[in-house]
Amino acid sequence: LEDQLRQSQKMEAMGQLTGGLAHDFNNMLAIIMGNLNLLKRRIERGEGRLETYVQQALDGGARAATLTHRLLAFARKQPLSPEAIDCNRLVPGMSEILRRTLGERVRVETVLAGGLWTTRADANQLENALLNLAVNARDAMPEGGHLTIETANAHLDDAYAQAHPGIPAGQYVLIAVSDTGSGMSQEIATRAFDPFFTTKAVGQGTGLGLSQVYGFVRQTGGHVKIYTEAGRGTSVKIYLPRLVGSEAAPAQSGTVGAKIPE
Ligand code: ADP
Repeated sequence: LEDQLRQSQKMEAMGQLTGGLAHDFNNMLAIIMGNLNLLKRRIERGEGRLETYVQQALDGGARAATLTHRLLAFARKQPLSPEAIDCNRLVPGMSEILRRTLGERVRVETVLAGGLWTTRADANQLENALLNLAVNARDAMPEGGHLTIETANAHLDDAYAQAHPGIPAGQYVLIAVSDTGSGMSQEIATRAFDPFFTTKAVGQGTGLGLSQVYGFVRQTGGHVKIYTEAGRGTSVKIYLPRLVGSEAAPAQSGTVGAKIPE
């Protein structure tokens, strides 16, 4: 199971990162160009104290360079097969594989919202993403603990969208995966989505789990965010866009979860 998971993590991360990171790369270029433009204008006017703009442009450039190098090392396209998904069916459909993956020391609880909206995503890859998060949660709780998977309807408002460039305000289906494990330092949390970033021993971690989650979510038009506190635990929130219109209604009959016996 671990080998299979690692292999599929690799495959999916390879393909999906391209879209998501190209988008982030554009944001970094915007920082660089924005600061250079400000700098140019101030220079033309002969104003002083220009170091901040230069430093911000350099920081943006350095971060972009790091990411492209990591990305180019293994990027490859993989098509998604999106379909209408009722996450309140998909999540319970994973109970057996979660139990097997997490072992006896981790208690799994699911909290499913009533009247949950439909989303549109590649079901296999969504299951894979949730499995990646569960494996991370398990690894963060060597002594055991609680894993909670929660679904909810979520509105991301304008203020939230402004604070998260590239994420449009609107209606999303939220899946939150929370653990009572070690949590992360701020430094680790900011790098956790980077491809190949891992704090685990060689052979234990690939550093591709969260990259895969990130790539998948971005390619699906969604948003993923880590809330973590060292020593307390971690909550990873995945926001997938709400599917509206005629396709949204028959989602109940979806085949999601069918390959995993309940
Ligand atoms: P890997 O699990 O192979 O290390 P990931 O991309 O999934 O790769 O995670 C990167 C790093 O983020 C991990 O090595 C770990 O340090 C940190 N991390 C991810 N999820 C959690 C979690 N639930 N609790 C604590 N740390 C985490």
